[in-house]
Amino acid sequence: MDYDLTEEQRGIVETAREIAQKKIKPVAKHYDETEEFPWPIVEEIRKADLFSIYLPEEFGGMGGGITELCLAAEEMYKACGGITMAYGATSLCASPILLFGNPDQRKRWLPDLAAGKRLGAFNITEPGAGSDATATKATARLEGDHYVVNGIKNFCTNGKEAELYVIFASTNPARGPRGISAFVVEKGTPGFTFGKKEEKLGIRASSTYELVFQDCKVPKENLLYKEGYGLFVAQAVFDQSRPGVAAQALGVAQGALDETVAYIRQRKQFGQSVSSFQAMQHMLADCATAIECGRALLYKMTRAMDKVMKPAIEKGLREGIPIFDAMQALDTPRFTKEAGMVKVFATDAAMKITTDCIQMCGGIGYMRDFPVEKYFRDAKVLQIYEGTNQIQRNEIAMMLIKEAASKSRRDKVSA
Ligand SMILES: Cc1cc2nc3c(=O)[nH]c(=O)nc-3n(C[C@H](O)[C@H](O)[C@H](O)COP(=O)(O)OP(=O)(O)OC[C@H]3O[C@@H](n4cnc5c(N)ncnc54)[C@H](O)[C@@H]3O)c2cc1C
Repeated sequence: MDYDLTEEQRGIVETAREIAQKKIKPVAKHYDETEEFPWPIVEEIRKADLFSIYLPEEFGGMGGGITELCLAAEEMYKACGGITMAYGATSLCASPILLFGNPDQRKRWLPDLAAGKRLGAFNITEPGAGSDATATKATARLEGDHYVVNGIKNFCTNGKEAELYVIFASTNPARGPRGISAFVVEKGTPGFTFGKKEEKLGIRASSTYELVFQDCKVPKENLLYKEGYGLFVAQAVFDQSRPGVAAQALGVAQGALDETVAYIRQRKQFGQSVSSFQAMQHMLADCATAIECGRALLYKMTRAMDKVMKPAIEKGLREGIPIFDAMQALDTPRFTKEAGMVKVFATDAAMKITTDCIQMCGGIGYMRDFPVEKYFRDAKVLQIYEGTNQIQRNEIAMMLIKEAASKSRRDKVSA
């Protein structure tokens, strides 16, 4: 379907597609097997300037938005979910700095992230705080001109390879969820080290590490926004990043489907092409329909989001205030519900589609020599990270109920 892309957006898609097909696809199996970090590909993405596309020009960005980020991610995930995680996790680090950083923080960190000079990471999860981020145990105690951070964060994507980390720790444990704050921690800060590297089912080219903080002195200026606003920061970031997970899912699903169509067209059984069996054709049709529905929902909502974010970003930059404050001043809609919907829809679809693709290919689809099983392994995590799909459904339902309650209050007032 034609999504009315601008010339610039078409250029981004072409660049990302070229990297995906010429650079990523040929090495996807190698990095999946070795679990090495794909530095040569990160360099290709950096040279093509794709790290910059969603950041404002003032920081060396191209001035695009979530739409541009999703378009690039979708193309690259078609080739390999694991390799492209280095890109996705860096954008997840840039987002809280852009939305909640003060002018000094924006100037200090965003240009390197836009240039791809430093990779980023975002880590809220802890061994005892997964879906329930309010259970965060890491602490950050203010002592003079720095915070002393202690605790373990885990499952950090871009683990050891990132150089900038947005992390969450409690500055006031007595206040529970309202005591959690967000910080930027730079690699090399004394007291910040790396623990276990995870071995994973899928996205094996992506590194996933435990982060260890032992009396780590983080400068006071690295607090993002205000003390006690950490969960607020995380939610606002997820509102904008969950469409990106949907884009990853659509890429993975499309990649699996393309391989499957090519294979079943030439595979013959009972003297005819497997693609001539109606049972296979119906599965193909369902897969393609789900991908197109996901894409339509995704780009409809990212456009709506970019449209309302543009004036907030301009205001925040012009007035030297956090962009989140500009969003509040302009009453910018948050899209929490829609971001959850597109994440759930696209990632559940990707899991089903990659499962069906293995089925359509038969035994070969299950084998490591053939590319389809990797898409299936790479798809699974999309239903888990950035909030499991159960948590998304909880949030969507909660918002529906709240909306119904406020509508009924309004109706009573106007009656
Ligand atoms: C490969 C990988 C990379 C990751 N990268 C990062 C990263 O870079 N940064 C980061 O911060 N985190 C990262 N994560 C962590 C990820 O976000 C968490 O795994 C996820 O939020 C779920 O938390 P959990 O694993 O503790 O599961 P749990 O919270 O223990 O959940 C277990 C099950 O219970 C369900 N459940 C829990 N609470 C509820 C509820 N209230 N209602 C219904 N069901 C519920 C969940 O849906 C799930 O099915 C990564 C995870 C993986 C696997």
